[in-house]
Amino acid sequence: IWTDVLAYVRKNISEVEYHTWFAPVRLIGVEQGALVLGVRNSFAQEWFRKHYLELLEDALRSLGAEQPQVSFQVLPAAQDALMLPDPPPAPPPVPSNPRSSQRSVPSLPVPPPNLNPKYIFENFVVGPNNNLAHAAALAVAESPGKAYNPLFIYGDVGLGKTHLMHAVGHYMTERYPGKRVEYVSTESFTNDLINAIRDDKMTQFRNRYRSVDLLLVDDIQFLAGKERTQEEFFHTFNALYESHKQIILSSDRPPREIQTLEGRLRSRFEWGLITDIQSPEYETRVAILKMNAEHNRINIPQDVLELIARQVTANIRELEGAMMRVVAFASLNNVPFSRAVAAKALSHVFTPVEIKVEMKDVLRTVAARYNLAAELVRGAGRMREVVVPRQIAMYLIRDLTSHSLPEIGAFFGRDHSTVMHAISKVTDNLGKDAELTLVIDHLKRQLSG
Ligand code: ADP
Ligand code: MG
Repeated sequence: IWTDVLAYVRKNISEVEYHTWFAPVRLIGVEQGALVLGVRNSFAQEWFRKHYLELLEDALRSLGAEQPQVSFQVLPAAQDALMLPDPPPAPPPVPSNPRSSQRSVPSLPVPPPNLNPKYIFENFVVGPNNNLAHAAALAVAESPGKAYNPLFIYGDVGLGKTHLMHAVGHYMTERYPGKRVEYVSTESFTNDLINAIRDDKMTQFRNRYRSVDLLLVDDIQFLAGKERTQEEFFHTFNALYESHKQIILSSDRPPREIQTLEGRLRSRFEWGLITDIQSPEYETRVAILKMNAEHNRINIPQDVLELIARQVTANIRELEGAMMRVVAFASLNNVPFSRAVAAKALSHVFTPVEIKVEMKDVLRTVAARYNLAAELVRGAGRMREVVVPRQIAMYLIRDLTSHSLPEIGAFFGRDHSTVMHAISKVTDNLGKDAELTLVIDHLKRQLSG
């Protein structure tokens, strides 16, 4: 049924769209007209809900389902390469007494559910802006409780603090499957405490936070002004510290700048190592985008990634968002990735840049229009199928850029008279051939954004 659904979808959307969105989708389960599909990330999940739900339901209907149902789940990163023809086996029964599971050492390194599977060391791009924090996190992961305790990581929002903390958590659970890792935001620590007080469950609360081998507390700046939570955290900290358990804290500022933080907590935060993460520089931003594109198996040309990295400088979350925006824009408009398309997709959010069309942009766009490899169009082949697109590419380059005839010739490995000939050929045909006129118009619009 899945193959049939895909065939139906493929008939109804463009190839670019199909490859961008449907190629990475995995079937998780199917049951009498109800499909469960695995998608790559929450962005894709949203996207599918908004844009493809109806299409998929139509597909099911066309295959005879009376009440089609489609739902989407985010695949864990490690699983996305797997095809799952059958629904995955049911999870093992949860022991009714949660504490009994602490003692039995799990046979598989199951990541604790509160760690994001994407946030691992392998996916963390190291640059001059974060190499100290990265090295410290790795050192702590390798000898928890011994290297630096606590490790305090600070930096602005969206720069990778949470990612690094989770990475240490994953590393530990993989290496030492019996170890307990607890990741908690300061907010949920506070809420847990409030609930524990209300429900008279302080013993459980303390057991939970004091029996771990690694405690990760995110955004500790939110402790400011919360006296009762500070008090409780102080005791948690001491209990763990004294039994040589590792503590990692993150914050948007260094301890001394957290207002209304008790002195005894502040000084404890300074016992170990304090390290910061700065905004990534251009090269690191490009590297992050590249890794992201590869991770999502989206083929975006280097120069387009470079344009995005130039435009979005503040933080990595925005950088990733910008890339997904470009992907969405190109796929919706059914155009190949180009710098012009990227600039257009980002123009609402960022100051528009004057886009200079480059020769390779033109080549790529023309080649894509004819479903040819760019190198074929640029090459020496004499077949009509490639000669006409080649002439059109030369014509458009002359029209949209300021390159001279010899420069264009050099780009194609030919001399300037060949280029001149190509251009006059296209110009001649423009008046006679309505379809050619349309194609050129369309290509021009695509290229000049
Ligand atoms: P913070 O906790 O500092 O606000 P996050 O850890 O949530 O930031 O990171 C924001 C996003 O940027 C996440 O998707 C994360 O995976 C990504 N990210 C941050 N730093 C890096 C890096 N060095 N390499 C790859 N991705 C990164
Ligand atoms: Mg964070």
